[in-house]
Amino acid sequence: MNIILLGYPGAGKGTEAENLKKQGYYHVSTGDLIRAEIKKESPLGKQVKDLISKGNLVPDALITEILLSAIKGKENILFDGFPRTLAQAQTLTKYLQDAGQKVKVILLKASEEVVLRRLTSRRLCKDCGHIENIYWPSYTGKCSKCGGELYTRADDTLESAKHRLDVFRKETEPLLEYYSKEEGYITVDASRSAEEVSLTVKRALEV
Ligand SMILES: [Zn+2]
Repeated sequence: MNIILLGYPGAGKGTEAENLKKQGYYHVSTGDLIRAEIKKESPLGKQVKDLISKGNLVPDALITEILLSAIKGKENILFDGFPRTLAQAQTLTKYLQDAGQKVKVILLKASEEVVLRRLTSRRLCKDCGHIENIYWPSYTGKCSKCGGELYTRADDTLESAKHRLDVFRKETEPLLEYYSKEEGYITVDASRSAEEVSLTVKRALEV
């Protein structure tokens, strides 16, 4: 069984991906694959590096090509950050069908209130970079490692969090519409604790 993991920003996709990796799923992240190609200085990597350095986006077809070559012959794949577009989703569906493989699509969904609260609660230490969270019981308003002053990263402001949520919705809506008509589409309430979310995902995969 393969898994496509989709998650609202702040819904804990990274944590869940780690859990599934530990359960033996073969984790494929397009971001990691692209970085690896660039590092290897492969022909594909050079092409991608050139595009990025000129400020261009990496085209759909190229990302798909990199991904498909990475998953050839593999099973129990955990797709993280792919597909991102409808075209990528359709190509992947066809690939998996041809390979006789099944997929479950898991969407980690949390309410806007929860997402915004999570995305704006992080604080960093000005002196040592240690991460604190205003909702942790241990939070004192100072760095717990060195006593330094804390600040909110520009990415973690309310305005920026709202923007990330908007971008996610716009980008992912067509995918959700596509997958909601397919078999094996599961929505998990990610407003709950990470443990509860993991348990729900685990049970959904056993069915
Ligand atoms: Zn510190």
